[in-house]
Amino acid sequence: MTARESYDLAVVGAGIVGLGHAAAAVERGLRVVVVDRAAGVAGATVRNFGHIGTSAHRGEAREHAERTRELWLRHAPRAGFWLRAPGTLVVARSDEELAVLAEAGEGTALSGNDVMRRVPVVGALGGAYLPRDLQVDPREAGPALARHLARRGVEFRWRTGALGVEPGALHTTRGEISASAIVVAVNHDVDQLLPDVADRHGIERCALDMMLADGVGLGVPVLTGSSMLRYSAFAGTTAAGALRRRIEAEEPELLARDVNQMYAERPDGSLLVGDTHARGLSVSPFQDEAAFELLSRLAGRMFGRELRIRQRWQGVYASAPQDFLRAAPMDGVRVVSVTTGIGMTTGLGLADAVVAELF
Ligand SMILES: Cc1cc2nc3c(=O)[nH]c(=O)nc-3n(C[C@H](O)[C@H](O)[C@H](O)COP(=O)(O)OP(=O)(O)OC[C@H]3O[C@@H](n4cnc5c(N)ncnc54)[C@H](O)[C@@H]3O)c2cc1C
Repeated sequence: MTARESYDLAVVGAGIVGLGHAAAAVERGLRVVVVDRAAGVAGATVRNFGHIGTSAHRGEAREHAERTRELWLRHAPRAGFWLRAPGTLVVARSDEELAVLAEAGEGTALSGNDVMRRVPVVGALGGAYLPRDLQVDPREAGPALARHLARRGVEFRWRTGALGVEPGALHTTRGEISASAIVVAVNHDVDQLLPDVADRHGIERCALDMMLADGVGLGVPVLTGSSMLRYSAFAGTTAAGALRRRIEAEEPELLARDVNQMYAERPDGSLLVGDTHARGLSVSPFQDEAAFELLSRLAGRMFGRELRIRQRWQGVYASAPQDFLRAAPMDGVRVVSVTTGIGMTTGLGLADAVVAELF
């Protein structure tokens, strides 16, 4: 970098949350720079399901999700990435799951046969179709959005680590950047840059095991079983207690590994298979094969056949008691993170709200 340069907004982190801030700011005609220590979009934003699950949330998450939905629909044609609006199919394969769906009353109720006519799953007793949910290809959407923003004048400084922040100045591994406002959107790595903020908000890491398998012809993302204990619209029902007890009795490993039984097919026909969750201040570098075996077994049971696994990987997101971190540790500095693993669903809307407040 040359000498000191000046911007309206400097963003640290080029994941969906950082990109959301850059998009909202450039939309308002502001001069924006984004720094990321990686060589491209490489964090949680490319490692997820690409599921934009608007309907399954309540409260603040729902507010950000509704706005995020509008923003994905606006960005996709402009930035030229794949987005579809297939909704989500929640599949019930036990009476307890049926009771959760009935009580939640979310979406259109389906019979078991309706479900099995729509998707190649076995053993469905019923389901709920949530029509408003969107889907992107996580490996494409973030990078395409970054390229689009670069074309609109946002400056990206890749392989540039942020070292420290003060009002009006961002210190990086390639020099200092002057900006009226600075947004730190570094996901779980808040503790590396602003440890006090991380400690105050109880930020931990949540590490997830994920797999990619040969596709099964799934036109709509599907979730089932223990996934219903994860999304507030279902987890908040009284029937969720009975479902949890049944899973605890029959397959406690699902709760021990906090499994999200979710499946989403990418545009190339490969199937994203998820996922386990392990929380702590640091992430174990050693991924447990038993976790992948469990995910394979569950997928086999869901689709009635063994799936060929093509890839395995780990994703990490920030986790905290509150759903969102939105801190203002200094004048003009904001620290923003989605701390529940729903950043694709809520991140763009959250970022838009932060930029509206800053400018
Ligand atoms: C396996 C998995 C499945 C998921 N599925 C879904 C889903 O289907 N739907 C959904 O809504 N959400 C899902 N999520 C959650 C979602 O992916 C995250 O909430 C979201 O991507 C977080 O975005 P981010 O921008 O905060 O983080 P990231 O994408 O991780 O970006 C943070 C960036 O900050 C950079 N950075 C960190 N420190 C510094 C520094 N000091 N200097 C410069 N750069 C720095 C990193 O290099 C990184 O690029 C999933 C997450 C995982 C891991």
